[in-house]
Amino acid sequence: MVNSFDAELQQRLAAIRDAGLLRELRRVDSPQGPHIEIGGRTLLNFSSNDYLGLANHPALKEAAIKATEKFGAGAGASRLICGSLAPFHKLEEALAAFKGTEAALTFSTGYATAVGTITALLGKDDIIILDKLVHASIVDAAKLSGAKLRVFAHNDLNDLEDKLRWSSSFSLPGNTLKRELQPPQTLVVTESIFSMDGDAAPLREIVALKEKYGAWLMVDEAHATGLYGKNRRGLAEELGVSDRIEIQMGTLGKALGASGGYICGSRALVDFLINRARSFIFSTAPAPAAAGAAHAAIRLVQSVEGQKRNEQLWSRVMELQSQIPNPKSEIPSAIIPVIIGDESAAVAAATQLREQGLFVPAIRYPTVARGAARLRVTLTAAHTPEDVTTLTRALGQIGHPQSATGN
Ligand SMILES: *Cc1c(COP(=O)(O)O)cnc(C)c1O
Repeated sequence: MVNSFDAELQQRLAAIRDAGLLRELRRVDSPQGPHIEIGGRTLLNFSSNDYLGLANHPALKEAAIKATEKFGAGAGASRLICGSLAPFHKLEEALAAFKGTEAALTFSTGYATAVGTITALLGKDDIIILDKLVHASIVDAAKLSGAKLRVFAHNDLNDLEDKLRWSSSFSLPGNTLKRELQPPQTLVVTESIFSMDGDAAPLREIVALKEKYGAWLMVDEAHATGLYGKNRRGLAEELGVSDRIEIQMGTLGKALGASGGYICGSRALVDFLINRARSFIFSTAPAPAAAGAAHAAIRLVQSVEGQKRNEQLWSRVMELQSQIPNPKSEIPSAIIPVIIGDESAAVAAATQLREQGLFVPAIRYPTVARGAARLRVTLTAAHTPEDVTTLTRALGQIGHPQSATGN
């Protein structure tokens, strides 16, 4: 019995391997940083989302240790069951103040944030409209909600408006005569900076459209929190639309260097999620250490050092973009895709780079579309100008000096 089970899985794995899509874990024997140790070698790392270089920062580690010493290694249960530990409350107060919202709620991961929030707010009578390239956590959440699902072409405002027009046909007055028959609610979801292309959503125009059609808007700032705007709140701040977005989502594990996810918004939104978000209710609270580290990161991002790290990151981005422009976005980002296309060719390119001492991940289906495989370069504040030169030289040597314009 067990053998036939394994035989079946081995067959499936062989099919994945044949398609050039096999994934394997690569053990790292060092902290995350610009240099990581893999298989006894030190590699120059262009793979992490630790954009400000905070994951191994002494202030975050110290805060994690302090939180552990004071509140223990584990949280004991869900925050609604055994009481909600102080570090989570302090973190949420700091987050709301940082983002300039009434309230904030944190989750164990960004994935759990998307799933819990979307399924709490929308049900089978409602409509969700997604950008084609939103993160898997949002796609999964939308499917799980049971709502009618529509996808608009990436960053395509005309297509979004078509879908919004379609959705508004459901809320004709005839549908609301019976008071218990609410018209369906429509939610639009996009990322602000897209995780695999590094391009930016036209948030001002999307906000205007969702207001025109009475829809709600959720923006996932996973790759923008801590990086954009005067207070480094995210792209919504930079574009001046934060207070017109109902649901501001982000993660604590990227530029903030810790782990977890958050929702920022009104007190009513947070109170509602505490009552209805199943990934919050039915899940043990994160370790106090994670809350301590994330809180320290928020303080750091708002400090003079945070400002300096931010400037360092953007200097590195400009240096790289002067060599390898990302034609997909006028707004620069720390994510620079080098499109290769073929899945096996992307893996081969990553292998060649690794042989030269550089760690750059090959990103393939299903993370991106088939035939749109790429090297995904990410920069951090901890990289030096020399690191960037090493990267562009190595990319040139393997024949991929340009990021493509297509896809
Ligand atoms: C990483 C990511 C998430 C998930 O966050 P985790 O904390 O890693 O679970 C959600 N949305 C986007 C856009 C992401 O890039």
